[in-house]
Amino acid sequence: MIEATPIRFFENKPSRLSADGKLTDSFGRKLTYMRISVTDRCNMRCDYCRPSADAYKAEPHAHILQYEEIERIVRIAADMGVSKLRITGGEPLVRRDLPVLISKLAGIPGISDLSMTTNATLLAKYAEDLADAGLNRINISLDSLNALRFRRLTGGELAPVVAGIKAARAAGMTPIKLNTVLMRGINAGGEQCEVAELIDFAMSQDATIRFIELMPMKQGMYWEEHYISIDDVLQREDVRSRVDVNAPLVTGNTAARYLPLKSGAGEVGFIMPMSERFCEGCNRLRLTSDGGLRSCLPADDQLNLRDLIRQGGNDNDIRSLFLRSALIKPEIGIYDFTADSEKRSMIHIGG
Ligand code: SAM
Repeated sequence: MIEATPIRFFENKPSRLSADGKLTDSFGRKLTYMRISVTDRCNMRCDYCRPSADAYKAEPHAHILQYEEIERIVRIAADMGVSKLRITGGEPLVRRDLPVLISKLAGIPGISDLSMTTNATLLAKYAEDLADAGLNRINISLDSLNALRFRRLTGGELAPVVAGIKAARAAGMTPIKLNTVLMRGINAGGEQCEVAELIDFAMSQDATIRFIELMPMKQGMYWEEHYISIDDVLQREDVRSRVDVNAPLVTGNTAARYLPLKSGAGEVGFIMPMSERFCEGCNRLRLTSDGGLRSCLPADDQLNLRDLIRQGGNDNDIRSLFLRSALIKPEIGIYDFTADSEKRSMIHIGG
């Protein structure tokens, strides 16, 4: 259920945060990037994202923002300085007519970058329509190249994902980024480590791979058992023979740090939310599928844009909620490591 956030219509006076009308938080960080979850439904059930299928309940359809509501919110956000959008979920491609939303958002003045994160199972069907609608780039989750392990971890099939990667390339989406969450005992650490194989696969697909440290989202026990640091992974011989670990880490324009491949054929990305916090440069806001506005992934303070809109809030009210969200963005995001934490899971928030 969405948090019963009390709706407050803030006074329409200039916030101390908004001398130039742009979203800046209390620590001087410009909030220019918004992740938009279009659904909390997914056709996979990745253990790290939706820890227990039994405990997971999707929001009723009526709670989910309509495309017109998302478009209105983004117009205002863009006017306040948000220029970069990423569509996510749940699985965004299970939402009907997603290309319609993409073309609406691509046409909003001020939006210069529109990307999506997907599990790619349905991408072969939609890649061309998405590219035509204005989707620039795509990130595809890929945690294993072993079909059996893939099925065990995600509940889905590997083959359509590989077909989706090829379809994205054929549709001209560049760059294609593959995202792998590292899990000890599953795809990293010991014999079953797939890091080297995944690097080779990414190169063969003309894609950039990024390895992500597992975050404790509502499943402290799972995290404790499976977390492995990037640093640990970089000690492996098969990784060191491919990646120049002595090169300086290059900071991209996102949370990722990059190291060059020894072959000279590209780079590998590392996202280290646990071992190297990147809160200092965080420029993110999140819009959940049920209209919650969040300014920090692990902080559960979210403001209710959906009810504000549905109860007749005007554009200035929406602007005020954005300013409020910037104001409550913490300097550092705090993860809860306890097994019974009541925090929302990734599928609910939108990764
Ligand atoms: N269904 C889409 C997908 O699979 O890419 C989009 C949503 S998914 C929640 C977005 C990203 O969040 C994925 O790359 C996933 O691997 C990542 N993610 C989910 N739970 C995570 C966790 N506990 N730690 C690190 N990354 C996580």
